[in-house]
Amino acid sequence: THFGFQEVDENQKQNLVADVFKSVAGNYDVMNDAMSMGLHRAWKWFTIAQSGVNPGNEVLDLAAGSGDLSLKFAAKVGPQGRVVVTDINPAMLAQGRRRLTDAGIAGNIDYCLVNAEQLPFDDNQFDCISISFGLRNVTHKDVALREMQRCLKPGGRVLVLEFSQPTNPTFSRLYDAYSFNVIPKLGELISNDRDSYQYLVESIRRHPGQEELKQMMLEAGFDRVRYHNLTGGIVALHVGYKY
Ligand code: SAM
Repeated sequence: THFGFQEVDENQKQNLVADVFKSVAGNYDVMNDAMSMGLHRAWKWFTIAQSGVNPGNEVLDLAAGSGDLSLKFAAKVGPQGRVVVTDINPAMLAQGRRRLTDAGIAGNIDYCLVNAEQLPFDDNQFDCISISFGLRNVTHKDVALREMQRCLKPGGRVLVLEFSQPTNPTFSRLYDAYSFNVIPKLGELISNDRDSYQYLVESIRRHPGQEELKQMMLEAGFDRVRYHNLTGGIVALHVGYKY
């Protein structure tokens, strides 16, 4: 691969991911819309609709980036609730904080620099934990999933929104052509950064498919895990509970 990913040690992956997101932070929202043709907005609304979050709840948004989900959660939990907005990358977290502050959101929100593999939170703390387009960047996904399970309250829900595998073979070929040819070009045009977007496409390919991720979530201790294929399985929302 461009970054020689097959050859690098897994622990170096975290540094490469950090460089990618530091580099894309400024253009992140524009690129999200351009790459997904605006569809990421619908995928995120669907995620919120499946969250079961109520006023007064405490929500943890992992790998929150520019805070799309955090913003919607903050409206749902209301003034008595709390959203903890986290990311491993200071540039992305700063982008999220700026965006939420500009949207007038304050009071029920905290920001924290957090690696999804090591959550600095108590056991059984959150009503809902989300990770949207973040898990594929995490080096040890099993560790991150176990951490989420630990910090979730009994009765709570975890939401994993991530790229997945298209279910129709013809559609899958079209999608391959789009992602390998169009997305790096868009990256070059919009943010003058072909390499980072090449990495994003490759990380999407390496991420476990629907059934594999479901199995990983069950192994991490989640119950009643289900998934919803979105846009023909380009993206899947996995939902798990803790009892
Ligand atoms: N959740 C946002 C969204 O859906 O638009 C942002 C997703 S963005 C594609 C992925 C984010 O994952 C980046 O902000 C990156 O810094 C963060 N990230 C990567 N590895 C991480 C890790 N180990 N722990 C927490 N965040 C991580």
